[in-house]
Amino acid sequence: MVRQRKKLPAPLALIPTMGALHDGHLSLIKTARDRGANSIIVTIFVNPTQFAPGEDFAKYPRPLHDDLQHLAGAGVELVWIPLVATIYPPDYSTLIVVPDLSHSFEGEIRPHHFTGVATVVTRLLRLIKPDLAVFGEKDYQQLLIIRRLVRDLELGVEIVSAPIFRNPRGLALSSRNQYLSDSGYIQAANLSRVLFETGINLRSGKEISECIKKANRSLKSAGFTKIDYFDLVVDGTLDLVKTKSLDESSPPTRMLAAARLEGIRLLDNWLV
Ligand code: AMP
Repeated sequence: MVRQRKKLPAPLALIPTMGALHDGHLSLIKTARDRGANSIIVTIFVNPTQFAPGEDFAKYPRPLHDDLQHLAGAGVELVWIPLVATIYPPDYSTLIVVPDLSHSFEGEIRPHHFTGVATVVTRLLRLIKPDLAVFGEKDYQQLLIIRRLVRDLELGVEIVSAPIFRNPRGLALSSRNQYLSDSGYIQAANLSRVLFETGINLRSGKEISECIKKANRSLKSAGFTKIDYFDLVVDGTLDLVKTKSLDESSPPTRMLAAARLEGIRLLDNWLV
């Protein structure tokens, strides 16, 4: 990779993915170009270390042929589909842990997930040595963790965030949406609707705890079977907003939500 990198004009952008590409992934390519990338590498790697036993690693969609077709028209310089043994040789043992940010929210439900994510991203950044790397705000906690590890390890790469790409109904695109039935796919847009409505209520000064209770009720009545979390944090952190309500002097805040529909966990977040 390092030898190939020399042939690619700088700035070089890395876009790590697990494949099953959709327009959300493709929007990251546009973000990279808008940020001045002259070369773009997309990686497709379903990273085993970020899945716990019993999660969907084995059945995670791997439509490689379709992915390559998507990328063929997307204007990237290189697609890298590494083998597991390339990323994790048999004697590989170092893990990257970002404890501060890895235990709440997604980390509470998936305790080892972010160690796997942080480790694979660090490996990719070290192997490819891009000038910038683009990550989606869709995985907001992941983005914070990657920013933190890049800072702490002084990896010397610019981390660029891309806004959440949604379908016309507002549903955040995700590779896991394809597990939903046709009616589930339509129902799923209620997650962003509830986030949007809660954002309006919060900005109009309503009590945060009441807004969150109402959001939980709305999601339940929209068919979501379990709400793992629906919380308001100070934007750029995972710190819960402690005030009773928001007012003009409140810092930018973000609602983070994860809820299950038809057994599928859907993630979304919304800047308030
Ligand atoms: P994944 O293949 O799910 O690991 O995602 C690869 C990258 O695409 C991550 O940086 C995600 O945050 C980003 N991504 C996934 N879905 C979206 C979306 N709907 N909008 C923007 N970025 C996304």
